Amino acid sequence: MKTSFWLSMIGLAIAAVAVWFVLHRFEGQPPFVETPDQIILGQSPQSIQIRLQDEESGIRSASIRLLHGAGSVSLLEEAYPGDLLQGGLKSSKDRTLSLDLESSSGLAPDGQATLVLQIRDWSWRDGFAGNRTEISIPVLIDTRPPTIDIESGITYVRRGGSGAAVYRIEEADTLDGVRVGASFFPGYPHPSGEPGQRVSIFAVPVQTQDASNIEVVAWDLAGNEGVARFPAKILNRAFRESSISIDKNFIQRVAFPLAQEAGLGDSDPAETFRQVNEKLRSLNEVQIRESVVESGQSAPLWEGAFKQLRGSKVTSRFAEDRSYTLNGETISKARHYGFDLASTARAPITASAAGVVAYASPLGIYGDCVIIDHGLGVASLYGHLSSLDVKVGEFVEAGQILGRSGSTGLAGGDHLHFAILVGNEYVDPLEWWDPKWLRSHIDVRLEN
Ligand SMILES: [Zn+2]
Repeated sequence: MKTSFWLSMIGLAIAAVAVWFVLHRFEGQPPFVETPDQIILGQSPQSIQIRLQDEESGIRSASIRLLHGAGSVSLLEEAYPGDLLQGGLKSSKDRTLSLDLESSSGLAPDGQATLVLQIRDWSWRDGFAGNRTEISIPVLIDTRPPTIDIESGITYVRRGGSGAAVYRIEEADTLDGVRVGASFFPGYPHPSGEPGQRVSIFAVPVQTQDASNIEVVAWDLAGNEGVARFPAKILNRAFRESSISIDKNFIQRVAFPLAQEAGLGDSDPAETFRQVNEKLRSLNEVQIRESVVESGQSAPLWEGAFKQLRGSKVTSRFAEDRSYTLNGETISKARHYGFDLASTARAPITASAAGVVAYASPLGIYGDCVIIDHGLGVASLYGHLSSLDVKVGEFVEAGQILGRSGSTGLAGGDHLHFAILVGNEYVDPLEWWDPKWLRSHIDVRLEN
């Protein structure tokens, strides 16, 4: 009696385990598949990562096909180890497929296509074929680079000077602009043109190589690059060299506090000056460009020529190559990318042209500093101020007071450091101050 009781209990337990096992192997959870939402394939090869997860039974197979206007092509057909009794191996529970797509191998014609993924697991469902996940991803195949039609004629640009290029791109949603050597100047919708017409204000940076090409480039969403040579000639010019003698007192009084504030500096005065003049300067330059990009005015806000500060005397010109000496020894070098303008102490500083304030705060070597975004990547900078009267985001008229001059930052006395930027590059303000030059080189290209 006792024996048969235990036997039936064991039989029951075995039956329970068998039921659990069958239910377990019949699980209905389809594989989880993680893919990009869409694929845009250009001329360059692309590697797509696809993650497959199946906790219970494990992934059994993966099949990927590309359906396109002219037919279909199989891209991947894989089976993963496992058996119906135990399911997939541990490695089949989570695996990542890398799918290499290459349009140049004649994958499919340009146009819309669909990537179809079919993934199965080791479950007994669907007549032992496993749970199935099917996913379709839209694919845009575009192997043609954007075509660029140059509309502006031959352009002469001085080294350190500015220019404007007008061109037309039929393809929408491109990133485009003018490339000069290693510098890039983004294009904007033409302010008075038709859709597709673009304008880029560009510069020939002081350090540009003579043989550098000036070209219009455009990238579409598929990453294809279109290039058109822009008919421009670089006019050479020389820049002044100057030597500035500084003393330990200046370093102690002016450079040392700047270094401390920036977490730089050294016990050696020459090294402290070098860190402020070179390291802090380059950090400040990054911040200047970031503020203009963030402001991002895409229409020209200036009207007519920019104005030099009224009644000011030029004490230093654009792109002067400066050497700094201490006790007759050169301790640092830097190019001075602005004009130094002297007036009376605490003179009212006015906007050289209309625009939107992109920066109005202390800025390292530039002291209390205002940057105005004039649109199309053109900006003006006012450094060493003693007080600030404007705020970021504010629209300012030409001639509006921004603050008062001073000697904050790396300055020996009260003066205005004035600079103009085009994109990431400093340019000679003389051109922008010249009504004739501005009219014939820039403004005329912004009209229709
Ligand atoms: Zn200066």
